[in-house]
Amino acid sequence: MIEERSAGTILYRKSPAGKLYLLLNYPSGHWDFVKGNIEKGETFKQTVLRETREETGIADVNFIDGFENKVQYHYQRDGEVVHKEVIFFLAETSTEHIEISHEHLGFVWLRFNDALEKLTYKTAQNLLKKVSELGFET
Ligand code: ATP
Repeated sequence: MIEERSAGTILYRKSPAGKLYLLLNYPSGHWDFVKGNIEKGETFKQTVLRETREETGIADVNFIDGFENKVQYHYQRDGEVVHKEVIFFLAETSTEHIEISHEHLGFVWLRFNDALEKLTYKTAQNLLKKVSELGFET
């Protein structure tokens, strides 16, 4: 089985309407948070900073202490099973403008409950729920 490791972040910004969470539309069709493969020598947070900049153009990412959660799943690539683990952080940005990378089909900023509905996979929904379980104001 192929092992794959990525790191990502639940990224939000404050707006007059409350906190808005960023979701990306991945080429295979699903909606998920910013994430990407860990390159050699990178810490998880370095990966997140690099991927956030590459995927969205956002350069100000402020990590919220105490949130670090792993999501895992399996998928098939060229007939082989891939086991993937993604370490997720929680972070705030003050940037609204997105320069979406050509690797993605689109993006959306959503309120907490709308983001929960939009996320394609249960594992991602459960991850977002952990934010409110922590007592963090969503
Ligand atoms: P990245 O480089 O950002 O880590 P990617 O686009 O290479 O991501 P994934 O988003 O991990 O890859 O998608 C790879 C496959 O796994 C796709 O078929 C996708 O539908 C599936 N997938 C993605 N997230 C999940 C999940 N949480 N649970 C189950 N399957 C998932």
